[in-house]
Amino acid sequence: MASHIVENLKDVRERIAQASRLQGGQSPVRLVAVSKTKPVEDLQAAYDAGQRDFGENYVQELLDKSPKLPGDIQWHFIGHLQSNKAKALVEGVPGLAMVETVDSERLANKLSGVAEAQGRPVLPVMVQVNTSGEASKSGVEPGEACVALARHISESCPGLRLAGLMTIGMPDYTSRPENFACLVACRKAVAEELGVEEHSLELSMGMSADFEQAIAAGATNVRVGSTIFGARNYAAR
Ligand SMILES: *Cc1c(COP(=O)(O)O)cnc(C)c1O
Repeated sequence: MASHIVENLKDVRERIAQASRLQGGQSPVRLVAVSKTKPVEDLQAAYDAGQRDFGENYVQELLDKSPKLPGDIQWHFIGHLQSNKAKALVEGVPGLAMVETVDSERLANKLSGVAEAQGRPVLPVMVQVNTSGEASKSGVEPGEACVALARHISESCPGLRLAGLMTIGMPDYTSRPENFACLVACRKAVAEELGVEEHSLELSMGMSADFEQAIAAGATNVRVGSTIFGARNYAAR
């Protein structure tokens, strides 16, 4: 099992490097290995093969797993986060490197407050955007809502740093070219509003099925799970 993970990881890294080269290689692309539902042994195998950025979706699962793994792992929280779990997440995961799924002012305020209270370095966050045009429980709408939340984070949340924008794509977790184009357009609008360089903001988009297309469209952060760790078995969690 672990040997498959090492091979898969190597393969994904090569495909990322190739896609970045084709794209011109302007920005380095970070691989977040999405390890939800996977046992710590699988994460350790990826870690031993050099992987440091891992993505998890559930607060309790991350609280259980992170103490059993090396302290220099950069944890990306990529699941739907309820405000009332923000404190447990920030306090319980010292290696929390980023929350990619901020979709409300309420959650941003909560995260900022707990990050400040804990005295940790500012917490990088991304605004999650619903780019599918379909009803969804997570992600702000592109356009004014996205710009407003980004402005709120950068102006009114001293415990946070706006790192960029994230999208899942379609409700079935695949992406269409429109999803990528939409996130790129959102970043442009946010950068103009905040008066910052567009490329100072990251784009988290692309998963197992489409990370190469995402990189071609400008992704700087791809979230790849099943292609590295194999299919997920939710029942076993
Ligand atoms: C599960 C998940 C992924 C990884 O999906 P794969 O298709 O297994 O690569 C990426 N991003 C988010 C937000 C996820 O929940």
